[in-house]
Amino acid sequence: MYKVNEIFFTLQGEGAHSGIPAVFVRFSGCNLRCPWCDTEFTEYTEMGAEQIVSQMLEMYDLPNERRKMCVLTGGEPSLQVDTPLIDALHAAGFYICIETNGTRSLPDGIDWITCSPKESSLKQSQTTSNNIKLQKVNEVKVVFTGTYDPEVWRTQLEAEHWLLQPLRFTGEWLIENVDSWEDDRNDNLNDTVRYILSHPFWRLSVQIHKIAGLR
Ligand code: SF4
Repeated sequence: MYKVNEIFFTLQGEGAHSGIPAVFVRFSGCNLRCPWCDTEFTEYTEMGAEQIVSQMLEMYDLPNERRKMCVLTGGEPSLQVDTPLIDALHAAGFYICIETNGTRSLPDGIDWITCSPKESSLKQSQTTSNNIKLQKVNEVKVVFTGTYDPEVWRTQLEAEHWLLQPLRFTGEWLIENVDSWEDDRNDNLNDTVRYILSHPFWRLSVQIHKIAGLR
């Protein structure tokens, strides 16, 4: 059984797949404790793989779609995602994306890996559980906190896409400040943009689902 916090259908709001419809499966629990984490992942319902897939298909019931996308997220989905679930999702026609903090190895067969490494993984020795275990992923998405240089991840990970995300740039903030956008945009966004201008290997990623008022 898997501990599932929620299953919902919306647009992917972050990263290289921004704007694409996807069924999100949020798994309960995380092995890290990031101070700014705003993800609600503690509650859960226990579900089997078939039950999860059938609920996902109810939400994304478009039989002619060649590529039904799903995003396995958390919490930390690698605590629970395993081969039987991957096989069940593929059998149902899903293209499987996962959003992981990179501290645990993944089962084979996942189609798209987004690694979002966290600052706590920097401070650990090679032997601790917080350290990055993944090597090659599709995209790396880093929250720009301004407390360390994100370039450090380029020495540890291989990826096609490198995305930097401001810490506090949300839809609520944009709506409240839209009239004075040029003068007032928050320092963290300014710092993120400045960083990318001087490190053009990275690309700006904002949470478009929050700007669009989606979940
Ligand atoms: S890794 Fe993600 S889900 Fe886990 S505590 Fe950090 S921000 Fe929250």
